[in-house]
Amino acid sequence: MVALDCRFFREQIVFESYEELDAGAKTSLEAHLQRCRACEQFQVDIDEVQQALDQLTEIDRPIDIEALHRAILS
Ligand SMILES: [Zn+2]
Repeated sequence: MVALDCRFFREQIVFESYEELDAGAKTSLEAHLQRCRACEQFQVDIDEVQQALDQLTEIDRPIDIEALHRAILS
């Protein structure tokens, strides 16, 4: 079972991943993460999701196929 303050902090972690957290809230979140491994892991998971989303939004960046081929063949 997830403790009540963990539920609160996990919400904060989500906000933080969108950079919507003010400095004070961030400090108390960091203090919680220091002593709560479950929430620390939750933050890692959120970061991975964020990164995957970032990659998706970069998909329209053109790939230089020619340079790629030269790199493979050289
Ligand atoms: Zn926690």
